[in-house]
Amino acid sequence: MLETQHTTSYYAASANPSPARPALQGSSETDVCVIGAGFTGISAALHLAEQGFRVTVLEAVQVGFGASGRNGGQIVNSYSRDIDVIERTLGADQARLLGDMAFEGGRIIRERVARYGIDCDLKDGGVFAALNGNHMKHLEAQKKLWERYGNTQLELLDDRRIREVVNTDIYTGGMLDMSGGHIHPLNLVLGEAAAFESLGGIIHEHSPVTRIDQGSIPVVHTAEGQVKARYVIVAGNAYLGNLLPQLAAKSMPCGTQVITTEPLSEELASSLLPQDYCVEDCAYLLDYYRLSGDRRMIFGGGVVYGARDPSNIEALIRPNLIKTFPQLKDVKIDYAWTGNFLLTLSRLPQVGRIGDNIYYSQGCSGHGVTFTHVAGRVLAEVLRGQAERFDAFAALPHYPFPGGRLLRVPFTAMGAWYYQMRDKLGL
Ligand SMILES: Cc1cc2nc3c(=O)[nH]c(=O)nc-3n(C[C@H](O)[C@H](O)[C@H](O)COP(=O)(O)OP(=O)(O)OC[C@H]3O[C@@H](n4cnc5c(N)ncnc54)[C@H](O)[C@@H]3O)c2cc1C
Repeated sequence: MLETQHTTSYYAASANPSPARPALQGSSETDVCVIGAGFTGISAALHLAEQGFRVTVLEAVQVGFGASGRNGGQIVNSYSRDIDVIERTLGADQARLLGDMAFEGGRIIRERVARYGIDCDLKDGGVFAALNGNHMKHLEAQKKLWERYGNTQLELLDDRRIREVVNTDIYTGGMLDMSGGHIHPLNLVLGEAAAFESLGGIIHEHSPVTRIDQGSIPVVHTAEGQVKARYVIVAGNAYLGNLLPQLAAKSMPCGTQVITTEPLSEELASSLLPQDYCVEDCAYLLDYYRLSGDRRMIFGGGVVYGARDPSNIEALIRPNLIKTFPQLKDVKIDYAWTGNFLLTLSRLPQVGRIGDNIYYSQGCSGHGVTFTHVAGRVLAEVLRGQAERFDAFAALPHYPFPGGRLLRVPFTAMGAWYYQMRDKLGL
């Protein structure tokens, strides 16, 4: 079924007002045509508009329709695979460039919220929670690694200290990152879109791109119009489908689900998360949660490889909520939804160019709130002729999933089952 508006999430129900943006009709010309109005597309568009480029964004549904308007809202630093993996695969010089960018996304978000006065419930502080001794060892190593790349806002939490920030018995310790934090993601992307428009940028909603004619001046087609541009940026991520088969071949859309409780009393909410930090655990298939601006518990988890929609999201996620916070056993769930992120085999993002003038960034593999903001800046840099940071990402090696499009789902699910068993056994 063709979707025409935001999914029925808590975020859509509490979105700040935004204008209706008409579909593209007829022909137009611009410097840059961006496909997709999530964080990647809007971040790139805003960076470019700030530098004087004329930019047109084409969005299939509405601004923030995809993962950017549905996610856990957690500002998580670095990449889904950490900088040590990059050090091992690409060597010290590339790792230095990519490592220096690992904490930039959170800074970009904070700068934008401040500069454009975006109302998106921004809060500082994110916790990584350890479920066993191995997770804790991993966090100790991660702290040392991140400190080498300049993050000085980290604190290891022992089993007593973690209980002061998360009121549950299931964790053995954790790590607090005060440069992490959380936001209402849909309101962030809507605010960034409004900032882009205030600089003369154009957004057409309800304008799915059906074809790109490649050439010295690429032409981007929708059902009722076309845009000629010097450059195209493809930012459709897990919702892009097969528009560019070479991008679909090395990535796999996956679903993850989120539930949101009714508003909690002030007393209950502050007894669960006294400092209002967001939390994600260190399991391979992780749980992530936080309080909303109006004191609801927003709790996500689970992965559906291949992005089929589960029939009963509450039944899937509620047991994890109650295991973490038995205090919420009688709570009512007001919203439940699913969203798709794009997995790559390496779990590192894919950034690159097709031909001379079509650029893309995709595949943050679950952690994309910060990276997409860096990607937007890096794409704007390369269009201005500064390619060093773009080249650092473009050099990351990427491979197709084993089993091809037919068998990649069962193969990946088998791999995930193995890692889940290791988590359960504390290995
Ligand atoms: C449920 C969920 C929870 C998550 N939680 C977190 C979290 O807490 N922290 C974190 O860091 N990351 C999280 N992520 C990941 C993060 O949300 C994504 O990495 C990020 O939002 C991707 O942004 P994007 O702009 O690349 O893609 P999207 O936000 O998916 O945007 C792509 C856009 O392109 C449009 N589009 C696609 N094809 C076309 C076309 N042909 N023509 C026009 N438009 C098109 C789509 O309609 C969509 O609006 C989560 C993801 C999900 C799904």
